[in-house]
This record gives sequence, C-alpha cells and structure tokens, in this order.
Amino acid sequence: MSEPTEWYHNLETSVETLKIQLGADARDFYLERFLKIARRVDEFAPSCQQCRECQSRMDNMQKDLVANAAQISKEQKRNFLGNIESILSHFKKIHGFISDGQNTAIFMAIGAGFGVALGAAFKNPVLGIPMGVVLGLIIGISLDARARKAGKVI
Ligand SMILES: [Zn+2]
Repeated sequence: MSEPTEWYHNLETSVETLKIQLGADARDFYLERFLKIARRVDEFAPSCQQCRECQSRMDNMQKDLVANAAQISKEQKRNFLGNIESILSHFKKIHGFISDGQNTAIFMAIGAGFGVALGAAFKNPVLGIPMGVVLGLIIGISLDARARKAGKVI
C-alpha cells in the first residue's frame, strides 16, 4: 500500500475531532470503517476518476456530520451509511475487492444447496447437508484467506 496523502491525513484528523463531537453516537457511523475505505480511495484516486469523486464525496460526508454533530437526523445517518455502501460497491465492482468472510458465506450457502442434492442422491439428507456445508466452508475459507493475502479485502 502506498503512503497516505495529505488528503487522507486531513480527513483522519477531522474524523478524530468528529468522534469527540459525536461522543457515544459515533459508533453508529462506523467511522473506523469510513477511514479504512478512505485509505483505499486515497490509494486508487491517482488512477481512478470515480475514486477521485469519492474523495470529495467523503469530504462532504464528513463536513455534513461535523456541521450537524449536535443533532443528526435519522435521514442524515441513513444517507451517510448509504454513501458508504455505494463507495464499497464501487470497490467491489471496479477494483475487485470483497468483504471479509464474503466467500465463506457464499460457499456455505452453495454447499448447503449441494448437500441437499447430495443427500437426495444417497437418500440420506441428514448426512448430505452437513457434508455440503463443510465442503462449502473449506472452499470459502480458503478463498477468503487468499483475498486477504492479496490485500483485496475491504
Ligand atoms: Zn475507483
């Protein structure tokens, strides 16, 4: 990962201040995650127009919270979290990132489905489903471990 730019450092400082302003409410905004995503946005901004747009979007998100820290409406909270989701989906779609545990969840579900078929084939659903789930877990965990190693988890 490259060194953080001034943009990131400034945002980090503002978010630290914001945390103090928000007090106990801060945890509703997952600001640690916000910064983690900002770090990725910072990394990709030189080569990605949309990430550069995300930078100004994140600045605005942060400023919006600072300006209203004393009383944040439900709608503002929803907007903030919705914005984070849409930035995350950009990273998944364009930059090939996944959420931590994403493959494990997906393959466990696939494995359970496969297990049902397996159980039906052997006329033993009680055995088929757990076998399928275990198989899915093994595949999912190893894919997640590979993504983590490649630095592709966001
Ligand atoms: Zn991008």
